[in-house]
Amino acid sequence: MTGIAAIPVRELRGVGPKLAARLADYGVHRVDDLLFHLPLRYQDRTRITPIAAAREGADLVIEGEVRAADVVFGRRRSLVARIQDGTGTLTLRFFHFSAAQKNNLQTGTRLRCFGQVRRGSSGLEMFHPEYRPLDEGEPSVEQALTPIYPTTEGIGQNQWRNLCGQALARLRRDPPRDLLPPGCSPYDLARALDYLHAPPPDAPQAQLREGRHPAQQRLALEELVAHNLSLQRLRQQQRAEGAPALAPRAALMADFLDSLPFAATGAQQRVLAEIAADLAQPVPMLRLVQGDVGSGKTLVAAGAALQAIANGYQVAVMAPTEILAEQHWGSFSNWFQPLSISMEWLSGRTKGKKREAALQRIASGEAGLVIGTHALFQQDVAFHRLGLVIVDEQHRFGVHQRLALTAKSGPGQGKPHQLVMTATPIPRTLSMVAYADLDCSIIDELPPGRQAVSTVLIDNNRRDQVVARVAAACSEGRQAYWVCTLIEESDALQAQAAEATAAELQLALPDLAIGLIHGRMKPADKDAVMSAFKAGAIALLVATTVIEVGVDVPNASLMIIENPERLGLAQLHQLRGRVGRGSAASHCVLLYQTPLGANSRQRLQALRESSDGFYIAERDLELRGPGEVLGTRQTGLLEFRVARLPEHNHLLERVQQLAVEMGRDFPELVEPLINRWTGQAIRFAEV
Ligand code: ADP
Ligand code: MG
Repeated sequence: MTGIAAIPVRELRGVGPKLAARLADYGVHRVDDLLFHLPLRYQDRTRITPIAAAREGADLVIEGEVRAADVVFGRRRSLVARIQDGTGTLTLRFFHFSAAQKNNLQTGTRLRCFGQVRRGSSGLEMFHPEYRPLDEGEPSVEQALTPIYPTTEGIGQNQWRNLCGQALARLRRDPPRDLLPPGCSPYDLARALDYLHAPPPDAPQAQLREGRHPAQQRLALEELVAHNLSLQRLRQQQRAEGAPALAPRAALMADFLDSLPFAATGAQQRVLAEIAADLAQPVPMLRLVQGDVGSGKTLVAAGAALQAIANGYQVAVMAPTEILAEQHWGSFSNWFQPLSISMEWLSGRTKGKKREAALQRIASGEAGLVIGTHALFQQDVAFHRLGLVIVDEQHRFGVHQRLALTAKSGPGQGKPHQLVMTATPIPRTLSMVAYADLDCSIIDELPPGRQAVSTVLIDNNRRDQVVARVAAACSEGRQAYWVCTLIEESDALQAQAAEATAAELQLALPDLAIGLIHGRMKPADKDAVMSAFKAGAIALLVATTVIEVGVDVPNASLMIIENPERLGLAQLHQLRGRVGRGSAASHCVLLYQTPLGANSRQRLQALRESSDGFYIAERDLELRGPGEVLGTRQTGLLEFRVARLPEHNHLLERVQQLAVEMGRDFPELVEPLINRWTGQAIRFAEV
């Protein structure tokens, strides 16, 4: 939107420095920001309802004459006014009021009131209605529905209405150019905005609430197209920077696969081949490998790493938790030590001389493969020739962290290739939006011999039965996890809860070898506990969600998750993936706290019904929204102005087509369209 888009809100009437600052904090800087600040819902103040026709619960406009106004001393002091309109009488009740207010409600004054009608002690009442005295020749009621805007502290509805009204007036005077190809929608941009800020009295309110109105769809479509085009442009920029071409090493790869104690699955082989082909190109690979828990993503990562290292480049493998990084360290050292590949470890706990030495080996290129946690992102970590970055369980990392690492390739070498692995499938609809033309590989096959995990929901009142079940499983030589969850992301509180649970279980099961693991423990202690559990010396492992990703103990066949209602589906699916890794039938008990809300029940049921990560992810998206699913809520990513997911999922096919069509037939519109919608540049596509 040129023209009005460029106008700062400060130029509108009634906007002083204070309000301008508040608006700026809220992300509203210019007139077009106001136009895209769409109402949440509407009130109907377009007609006056006779008191006799007033229905309880409705928001209504009523006009009448004050018959009496008194301060009443009941349980609470209140100001009570009776008004009459010829069809009936209605009581206005105020608990907070001033003397002046009472004086203004003189008998005989005509009022127009707006509020919700309730049944009170004196018949129909309105509590704290908006009202004002009517003058002779008062203009008729509102011509359009009254918008209720999303707001923040210090900005009232009247202020929003006033500002958006002024923005709308400017829009009508100077309508912006339409940037979508003709024929996309019955609404053009200006008409759609006009409609949504000031819908006619007969507008379908239910449809509007659900985002299904054609005017909303028109805006959502345009926004999603703009978003898609901007992602593509970012990707093109990345491609233009180039990357090292890493030639496939077929013989080396074959030897490597032969050295494993198992044969790679068909899906692993296919994905390995897809990656090998990408790496051979002089453009940066950006590939997402999605594979359910236990599908063997680590092996695929190892294959990719091998190709890069064989070409003389360094590889960074990054995991979200220390435990997971350690596990990768274990797998990679097993596989790579025979090949004399030099490996380096770097985590937040690598300190002092050790850290200096590690940094030095990374900077000199002596370290071929570097494994670690987010510590790999830190400023002072410099690589000699970084050719490939592998990020495991990507949804746990912020975009900025990923950006920081790809910037480390070294000068004049282009971008490193990127391989992102996740067991939390990103629903296709969402990945189209969030990642545009990111390439996807799917490992859709589990190694042979895996069994589905049966899942049951049990309420916490039957805890004793669950404890008995743990005892029974362990007495048969099986092992179990007991996972404690907490809403707070506080390590300390999580640790406390787990400690308490471990103590309680030990009391109930005095003969059982019970271990405890949580994020507060020293790495060496965690290691010791994990090794003991792996070796079978611990039968029941009480844990916080630190074991969520990656941990692999095939003999564990029972998992209890306490308060599963606190976790997202994807996280629960991950946790559950810790069992069902061996040949025994495995079970997962979701030990929930009663009462369970409807939404939580639906979520847990989805988990019981399905072990398909994709289905679970789609349900998660439906029930929690995209911010939670992608883990990007904090960073404010994927926050659209108008578009809503999943409500607008059905538009996404069309979005793809339109983006292609625009690039081909209307290239001159692409730039203005991107600028209109992504003023403050989206950066997250630069994964
Ligand atoms: P995830 O995809 O969850 O990261 P992992 O890479 O940790 O899975 O693999 C899970 C387990 O399966 C590991 O013990 C791994 O060694 C084993 N594994 C991987 N690929 C195969 C295969 N093709 N056949 C048998 N076992 C495999
Ligand atoms: Mg893994």
